Amino acid sequence: PTSLQLQMSEGSSGPRIDTALLVLSGKGGVGKSTVSVQLALALAQAGHRVGLLDIDLCGPSVPRMLGLEGQRVHQCPEGWVPVHLRLPGAASDGAELLVMSIGFLLEGRDDPVIWRGPKKTSMVGQFVRDVHWQRLDYLVVDTPPGTTDEHLAVLEALPVGSACRRRGAVAVTTPQIVAVGDVRRELDFCAKTGLAVLGIVENMSGFACPHCAGCSNPFSSGGGRELARAKALPFLGCLPIDPSLAACLDEGQAAGAKALSSPAQLLAQEVATRL
Ligand code: ADP
Repeated sequence: PTSLQLQMSEGSSGPRIDTALLVLSGKGGVGKSTVSVQLALALAQAGHRVGLLDIDLCGPSVPRMLGLEGQRVHQCPEGWVPVHLRLPGAASDGAELLVMSIGFLLEGRDDPVIWRGPKKTSMVGQFVRDVHWQRLDYLVVDTPPGTTDEHLAVLEALPVGSACRRRGAVAVTTPQIVAVGDVRRELDFCAKTGLAVLGIVENMSGFACPHCAGCSNPFSSGGGRELARAKALPFLGCLPIDPSLAACLDEGQAAGAKALSSPAQLLAQEVATRL
């Protein structure tokens, strides 16, 4: 889909974002999109104005998790209107999450995006600048695994002081040592680009048993906490492997009342206090 373009109208005032939060992981499948979605929902449920930007151009999973597949963005005089997801049952009436993803621009959900770096860079820049985010307390950014052109592009598009007031990264890892090793590279990337790391989240940490409400540890655990200690970073918390959460994500019910776990709410509180 090389013809994809966000046509910008004249006179856009650009985003007014308080805090940009990049969610990072060293490799795919550790739950970065899951953490991004849960964090964004928990912040929105708590009454903040939240945008969720999916810049995983080659593997966007946010539309599927939120049941927004098939949604399209349209243009208004101020730019492209992100998908507005109403959050029933939130603390404040009319709570919603604003969502933007390449998935809303593709004809078919399995259409591949095969672009070279400059085109990706340009699309990510447009996602930040040319989308009518309005005023946001938080823009949560779900990034691709590793350190990519998209990471550099989003940082370039979000200079502190003009595009956002502050920005930081949340690094996601699983407890196993391999994923922990991968996340070290992300931390180096943050150090080199001057991006503050708010802390580390350990996902799939233990198993939340649907029968007895207990939590067991089928794999090793504590790698994220160890890494946080070794790097002198805050440990933000754990999300257990939760079969009911996995089912909600698969069925596009991530915004449903049953999906938002209490560990995710604690995580959002923890992130907010680290800023
Ligand atoms: P990534 O964005 O790092 O590639 P995802 O967030 O897409 O990873 O997660 C990969 C898969 O693992 C998804 O199918 C998701 O539903 C599942 N998953 C992630 N975290 C959890 C969790 N805490 N409990 C249960 N399933 C999870």
